[in-house]
Formats: sequence, structure tokens, C-alpha cells
Amino acid sequence: MTRKIAIFDTTLRDGEQSPGASMNTEEKLIIARQLIRMNVDVIEAGFPISSPGDFKSVAEIGRIAGDKCTVCGLTRAVDKDIEVAAEALKTAKRPRIHTGLGVSPSHLRDKLRLTEDQTIERAIHAVKLARNFVDDVEFYAEDAGRADQDFLVRIIEAAVKAGATVVNIPDTTGYNMPWEFGARIRDLRERVDGIEGVTISVHTHNDLGMATALALESVRNGATQIECTINGLGERAGNTSLEEVVMAIRMHEAELDAHTDIVTKELCHASKLVSSITGIMVQPNKAIVGANAFAHSSGIHQDGVLKARDTYEIIDPADVGAAGSQIILSARSGHAALRHRMAELGYTFNDEEFENIYQAFLEVADKKKEVYDEDLESIVHERERVSSAIWTLGAVQVSCGFPLTPTATLTLVDEDGEEHTVAAYGTGPVDAVYKAVDQIVAVENDLSEFSIKSITRGIDALGEVTVRVTAASGEVYIGRGSDNDIIVSSTKAYINALNRLISDQREAASK
Ligand SMILES: [Zn+2]
Repeated sequence: MTRKIAIFDTTLRDGEQSPGASMNTEEKLIIARQLIRMNVDVIEAGFPISSPGDFKSVAEIGRIAGDKCTVCGLTRAVDKDIEVAAEALKTAKRPRIHTGLGVSPSHLRDKLRLTEDQTIERAIHAVKLARNFVDDVEFYAEDAGRADQDFLVRIIEAAVKAGATVVNIPDTTGYNMPWEFGARIRDLRERVDGIEGVTISVHTHNDLGMATALALESVRNGATQIECTINGLGERAGNTSLEEVVMAIRMHEAELDAHTDIVTKELCHASKLVSSITGIMVQPNKAIVGANAFAHSSGIHQDGVLKARDTYEIIDPADVGAAGSQIILSARSGHAALRHRMAELGYTFNDEEFENIYQAFLEVADKKKEVYDEDLESIVHERERVSSAIWTLGAVQVSCGFPLTPTATLTLVDEDGEEHTVAAYGTGPVDAVYKAVDQIVAVENDLSEFSIKSITRGIDALGEVTVRVTAASGEVYIGRGSDNDIIVSSTKAYINALNRLISDQREAASK
């Protein structure tokens, strides 16, 4: 049997730190259910002290994870952080506290202003405190990739002696070459007293496009846990991408002496889900989960693949769930069929919620005839957006064409059910609608991005619009809307972003 490599997913913590990728608790739970279904070993669910939302997400994910996976909360090496994380993790059957601090010269000198000995003292104190609350403590040595190696050996040894069960060696800035980083891991294995009793984890970033290579070279040198995210989401150029390391290990199991327990057939579904929830699209040529990952356009390649798949394809698309979802439902499908498929996708509803979902499903099925999984997910997300809304769409109508001036008539409904109607014109139909929304909602913001894509196949597919708006505070908000009519999706997306912005402003004002 080859070595088991634990997959530590940090989509909900490091991934969420991507600019504009912030998610609410409901959205995090949807992703967490998918991670559990995929069999990840650890979910890093958030940074509990950073906000009430993060605290709640960690607690809720702890509740749904049960004994299926470990749930981890991040902290700094600060008492209060650790106490709050322990509190949030009380719901978890398998809780882990992830604590640590910077270890590179620039962290010690500029950020922490500590000597090496003081840094080690603080690490020992944090690990011991965390061990008072939970049995499973992971120590991270931030920026280990640029640390003095002798100091790294000392601090890791101290953390192990203090009771850490996992030691995380991050290349926080994505600076290393794979062989250098692998040599650091090997050196730790050779020199740290007690290292054989703990798990070595690596957390690598993609600033030089090396994240996957760094993780695999670490595995070759003794690491048995990889920290990664779906679609490689994360700060700056992102984290190691889960789908890449999982499939690379699977393709090279014997030479790496390694395997993971990930259900690879769920990879493409997970990718689409995270992309749809965060509004961050996956580049078409992305390895494993990109839209073109299994497309062959050259005639020579097409011919080769038709004769024998492995001429040009190393992975069977079905193994990663890229074969496309099946047509599963239509307007004739009853309540039971819809409830069953929703449950398979990880959604459960009470009777009243389900009736609303069923009605929305019938509307889509009437227009589309064939309803795919992606449509069902879109229906659920749309319902969630509406149920937490401050402003909702009453009616929208545009007239445009050559040589007309695009004009929109718009009705929005406020929380008290009162209707507000205005008309506006603009440079195009969407611009006209957005000017009308601005007249009614009147909240200062900058629209920085607008993108549109079809969720499923065909000209009658649901069109999903994603917008990003920047508030006066500098905070970025994502809005999404889906409908068969792209003007309607565009309107819903903008209102969704403004609803988030307003509700954040209200929360800030009430503090
Ligand atoms: Zn990171």
C-alpha cells in the first residue's frame, strides 16, 4: 500500500481571501458539503476571530462534518485568537486548531519585531494553549520558504515538543524552486527530533506557477499532507490547486509512493460550484477542470483520440466528472424526483422551501425542456439571493436597437413591499437598466466588472451574470443573477451586489 496523502482544503479560508471571493455562511456550507462528498481529510473553515461571519461558518461546518472529516480553524499565535477558535470548534467532532507565526527574517524583523528566541517562546506558548482545548494542533511556520533553515529546524522541533500533531511548512510567497523546497522538507525530516511522530504538511502558493510542483516535490521528500483549494483559488496568484495535485498523485502513484482518498469524479462539479459561488471564472485552458482540458481541435489530434483515447489524453474525462451532467429532469418530473436529485446534490429543504424551489424548477423546465444539475444549482442559489434581499426586482423592460436610444423602465420593490418605478436611458440596454437601479437605490458604488456566461448548453440556456462593485469604503461586492433573459439576469446581479453592500453597511453601522 502506498502512503496516504491527506488533502487539507482551504478554499473557505485562504481561497476566500482572493479579492472579491468573500462568501456568506450559506454559501460556505454549500461548498463544505461538496468537500465532504469528495472525501477531503481536513476542511479549513475560516479564521474565527476575524469576523462573526467566520466564527459562525466554522461552527456550522463543524456541525455538518460529523466524523467524516477534520474541521480546522486558523489563528495567530495570540491567546484570544486561540480561545475564540476553540469556542467556534466546539460543534466539531474532529476539531483542529491551526496556529503559528512568521519565521522568515523579514517577518521577525519587520512584522513581529521579535528575536529568534522570543519567536520560539511564542510558538511553544501558542501550541500548548491550543492543546489545552483540542488534541489536534497544527503549527504553521509562515514564510518558511524564505526562513533561515537552522532556525526553521529549531522552531519546528520546539512546536513538536510542545504538542503539535501536524507541522505546516508554507511557501507563503510562492518564491521557491521545487528542488530547493523539497530539500528543506528532507532536511527537516533528517534533523528535527520527533518529526517521525507528526504529519508534515505543505502550503504552497502559485506566484511563479510552481504551486503544484512544490507540493509534489514535498511529497517526494516526506510530506504527507497538502494544503490546497478548488480551482487554485487564493491570495494573489492563488494556492495549490486541489484537482491538480490529486490527479497528478493518481497518475504517478507508484513513483510517488502516494495516494489520496479523493472521489475524483466530483472534481469538475466542485470546480463549477466554487466558480459559480465566488464569481471567479476558471480559465478555459486550466488543467483538469478547464472547459478545454479535454477538447481536441486539431484534426490530427481528433483523429488520434477517436482511434484510441490515450493517444493524446492522459486522463479519462469521466474520471474527473468532465463528461458533462446527464439530462435528468423535465417538466414532467414530480416532487419526489426533484427532491431526490437535490438531496444527491447536497441540498435539503423543509416543505415550504421545497415548494418554492419546485415552482421555480417548473418555470425553468417549461422554458428549457431539459434541466441539468447546473440549472438546479442555479435555482437554489437564486432562491437564496431572493430570500435575503433588501431590494427585489418587480419589473424590467428595455427598448433598444438601431437607431434607438436604449431606454429602461424599472420597478424595484423595497423591504416594506413598496414599489418604486423609474425610467432611464443609457449607452446600451444594460447601462440603461443600471442607471435606473442607481436612481432608485442611490448608494455610492463603482461597477468594476461585468461578465456573462451560459450555465448549460443550448441557446435557451440560463445566462448567469456576475458583477463586481466597489463601495465607497473600498470593499468589493460580487452580485450574481441568472435567468433565460440576459437583461433580467443582469438586473438581478446588480441588485444582488447592492443588497450585499447595503446589508454590510447596516451591520457596520449597528456595531
Ligand atoms: Zn496561503
